[in-house]
Amino acid sequence: MGDGLAESATPGVADELAGQEAVRFAADLIRLDSTNHGGGDGREREAAEYVAERLAEAGIEPALLEAAPGRTNVVARVPGTEPGLGGLLVHGHLDVVPADPAAWSVHPFSGEITGEVLWGRGAVDMKNADAVALAVVRDWARSGRRPRRDIVLAFTADEEDTASYGARWLVERHPALFEGCTEAVGESGGFAFHARPGLRLYPIAAGERGTAWLKLTARGTPGHGSRPRADNAVNRLSEAVARIAAYQWPVRLTPMVRAALEAIAAAVGARPDDPALSGASPAEIVRRLGPAAALVVNTMRNSASPTMLQAGYKVNVIPGEAVAYVDGRVLAGFGDEFRATVSELTGPDVTWEYAHREIPLEVPFDAPIVAAMTAALLAEDPDGIVVPYCMSGGTDAKQFSRLGMACYGFTPLILPPGYDYHAMFHGTGERIPVSALHSAVRVMDRFLADAR
Ligand SMILES: [Zn+2]
Repeated sequence: MGDGLAESATPGVADELAGQEAVRFAADLIRLDSTNHGGGDGREREAAEYVAERLAEAGIEPALLEAAPGRTNVVARVPGTEPGLGGLLVHGHLDVVPADPAAWSVHPFSGEITGEVLWGRGAVDMKNADAVALAVVRDWARSGRRPRRDIVLAFTADEEDTASYGARWLVERHPALFEGCTEAVGESGGFAFHARPGLRLYPIAAGERGTAWLKLTARGTPGHGSRPRADNAVNRLSEAVARIAAYQWPVRLTPMVRAALEAIAAAVGARPDDPALSGASPAEIVRRLGPAAALVVNTMRNSASPTMLQAGYKVNVIPGEAVAYVDGRVLAGFGDEFRATVSELTGPDVTWEYAHREIPLEVPFDAPIVAAMTAALLAEDPDGIVVPYCMSGGTDAKQFSRLGMACYGFTPLILPPGYDYHAMFHGTGERIPVSALHSAVRVMDRFLADAR
């Protein structure tokens, strides 16, 4: 890891106030309901204005950009001291998925802190990271410090839908804001995963599966429900959906996922060079790696989950059309196989198309920026083990990668045992320990100030 490690291992100087600000900003942002209902129905403006005000207070000039009224993005640049170095983008989305207050023990938009835990929609996904980025750059402004590289901050709208009002639009319409940025960090990675008591893994995301949301349509002859028909659209659709649901996708290890598998195997004491690992089924991987298998099992193959069904309008009327949506995720290099398999599973009576599609990502893990992230994490938790990680889903990184940036998932969090990080995403009772926000400020401060 060379001098990157030595440089970054010096303690961060972000002060206690920076941690307190991160907690306050995260709570305030949770209270500014920025629910994204999808299909263009969302509103990030209040959260964006809040972010812009916090930046302006620190003398950082924010640009507010809207693809549609209320769908506000914020972009700002903190100039580095070494202009020869490429810029580093730090991106976080401002929108959140819906939350039903009836299902929560505290109101999801209250930003309440009880027992040193901050509750609310966005506490982990990902107003926490937005708040941490704000707290870090404000700390720099207070102390007169500056990063080596230009740090570009992007707080985006619409990540929880298609990014059409957010990162996708920014990249297409305002690429100059990101000029010179060679790398980016965003959600999610660098969080503590307790593989077993005393063994903490910190997965840094260096890849994402592609997104392939599918729309399936079955047609048939409409008619009276009392007169069954072989070409009933509902029958045709439900048979296709059942075939997709039951299909066991073959294991396909990309180089990134293989690297993740080997690193995790080594960390938990399994043999990383065991040839059986490469060909093993997800169930076998779980048996060999234990709980840490959760970091890889969902990225060992393509997947397709039926999620929406639409058909009919009255119980005694056979409809002429039935529609289903399927959430497909595709590994780098296996898009053709995915397409062919879906065609085979849907069969001749059901047509399908991509409702939305995004590329998979894979970037190098053996890179100086990963060494800098590692050093910043290990300064906080010297016994932690950093491993590569491919995300099962997608983020705004897919959009920013189109500008040529190498995009990583890094939103560091030192978390206590028993805290189920992945269950928090879009989950009921989303929450984050206050201590994790404080540690995140210290890690991000070290990383962003020292990265080069
Ligand atoms: Zn998110």
